[in-house]
This record gives sequence, structure tokens and C-alpha cells, in this order.
Amino acid sequence: MEESAFRCGYVALVGVPNVGKSTLMNHLVASRLAIVSPKPQTTRRRTLGIISGEGYQMIVLDTPGILEPHYPLQAAMMKTVQEVLGDADIACVLLDATQLKPGAIALPEELRRFQRKRIAALNKVDRIYPKELLIPLIQEIAQTDLFAEIVPISALTGDGVGRLLEVLVRALPEGPPFYPEDQLTEQPERFFVGELVREQIMTRFSEEIPYAVEVEVAEFTEREGSKDFIAVVLYVEQDSQKGILIGSGGRAIRDLGSSSRMAIEQFLGRPVFLELRVKVAPKWRRDEATLRRLGYRI
Ligand code: GDP
Ligand code: MG
Repeated sequence: MEESAFRCGYVALVGVPNVGKSTLMNHLVASRLAIVSPKPQTTRRRTLGIISGEGYQMIVLDTPGILEPHYPLQAAMMKTVQEVLGDADIACVLLDATQLKPGAIALPEELRRFQRKRIAALNKVDRIYPKELLIPLIQEIAQTDLFAEIVPISALTGDGVGRLLEVLVRALPEGPPFYPEDQLTEQPERFFVGELVREQIMTRFSEEIPYAVEVEVAEFTEREGSKDFIAVVLYVEQDSQKGILIGSGGRAIRDLGSSSRMAIEQFLGRPVFLELRVKVAPKWRRDEATLRRLGYRI
């Protein structure tokens, strides 16, 4: 019998905000690489995860949700989506089963233009009762003729994710692995440290704060015989936001610091010393020079 060839390629997780792309990413890599929150626009940068299995290596890229950009930060986020799609062998398009309106399945233009394979993951099916209600949704998606396959899943419970993985692997191009088998990502620890602090901000603060804050890991020093030293700068747009982040008597920032430190220690598997500083960077979301300095591609 002829041995089947090794498969390796890039899968972009794409879709509108809040459909569960980051939750799926974490389920696929069985690790908390991507930050998740109930708020839309949690993901601002691409996150890369590597899944190595029997006969395949799948490189998964989590992306910001596709939206109409209103300011340069969002434009940079959309550029990231375009770049990831430009390199992807497969676009895994997530659709939220609780939001789909029969008769009106709208797919963003970026995804219609995508030339290679599109696979639909109909997510959040744990929230659909009875299950028969999924049938017209699946038929509706099939009628768009845009997808090679449609797989119902729950990224939250993991239901259907194994089948989605099989479908994605089968659609990968043939080729040798790009990374060593035991490698989980290629992004540095400091990227994940910044993301974990931002996840805490997204979760702990409300209204405009999650969107007005950017995180920069200013220092990450491994110290001989002592905990790693990590200094994180939190940029806000206005003094009033600085006040909210710090809180009365410094309580909010202390709580943010300790929950962030715990998340970082769990991720790194070692104790760290975390220092948070808050700085005002007026209109950083709209300032291209600042965005560029913060690592966004404008
Ligand atoms: P993203 O913006 O597409 O990356 O979405 P996230 O992964 O950040 O998820 C947005 C919200 O949807 C979070 O509150 C998740 O817990 C929730 N979520 C994601 N997948 C599922 C799912 O399969 N079922 C349910 N009930 N909630 C989900
Ligand atoms: Mg996300």
C-alpha cells in the first residue's frame, strides 16, 4: 500500500467579531494561546498555533474579527486579516449559529474573494435547541456555494471540533512540516504576556476602557536566582481613563496586577514579578506613528 504523503499548511480562523475564533484556536491547540472575552474586538493581532499530528502539521492563525474600520487601529487589524488570508491554504470561516438569520447569510467581501479552500465552522451549536433547527441553517450555508465543507461545532464544549480538525487536515496541501513536532507557537513569551494582561483588562473593565487601553511589554528580564522581572505599560487615551484603571486608592490596578501575574505565571509555568505602569498617549488608536511603534502594520 502506498503511504499517504505528509500534509502541512496554514489555516486562517476568520469571521466577524465574537463568533468564537479564539475559543476554537485554544481548543485546537489544547492550550490557552489566544485571549477570549465576551466583548467583541478582543483579538487585535494574529496569534499562531501549531498542531502536529500523525502525518500532518497544521499551522492555525487566529485573527481579529472582520469589521468596517472606523479608526486606524481597526484598519491595522483588518490589514492583519488580509495578510493572514494572503498566506492561508484554507480559510476556516466561523459562523455564529445563534446569530444567523435565515435568508440573509452575509459573508464579508474579504472571504468571498479568497481563492483557495473555504471551510465553514457553524459555531455555538450548544445554544441551539432542538438540534433540528440546525438543518435549515446548514442548508442555507450550503446554498451560498462558497464552502467545500460545513461542520457544526461548539468551540466552547469541544463538540464537533475533532471532526472539524479531520476535515481541515484532509484539505491541507502535501508537504513536509515547517516546525519541530513539539513546537506550539513561534511568537515570543513577551507577546503572550502582553495579551494576558489585555485579557484581564477586557474582562475586568467595562464600557470604553477595554477599547481605550493598549498594552506594551516594556521590559522582560530573566534574572539569575530570582523571579523574571516584567514591566508592562498600559496606554490610555485620557487622564480620566487613567483614573479608572488605577481606581480609588490604587485598588483597581493592584487587583489587575495580581490577576494578570497569576495568568502569566500559569502560562509560563514559573513565578514572575510584574509591574504595571499607566501612561496617557492621547488618541493612540488614531495615531499611526504610535500604532507602528506598538507593532501594528499600518
Ligand atoms: P472571537 O471574537 O471570534 O475570537 O470570539 P471569542 O473566542 O473571544 O468568543 C466570544 C464569546 O463567545 C466568548 O464569551 C466565548 O466564551 C463565547 N463562545 C465562543 N465559542 C462558543 C460556543 O461554541 N458556544 C457558546 N455558547 N459560546 C461560545
Ligand atoms: Mg478573538
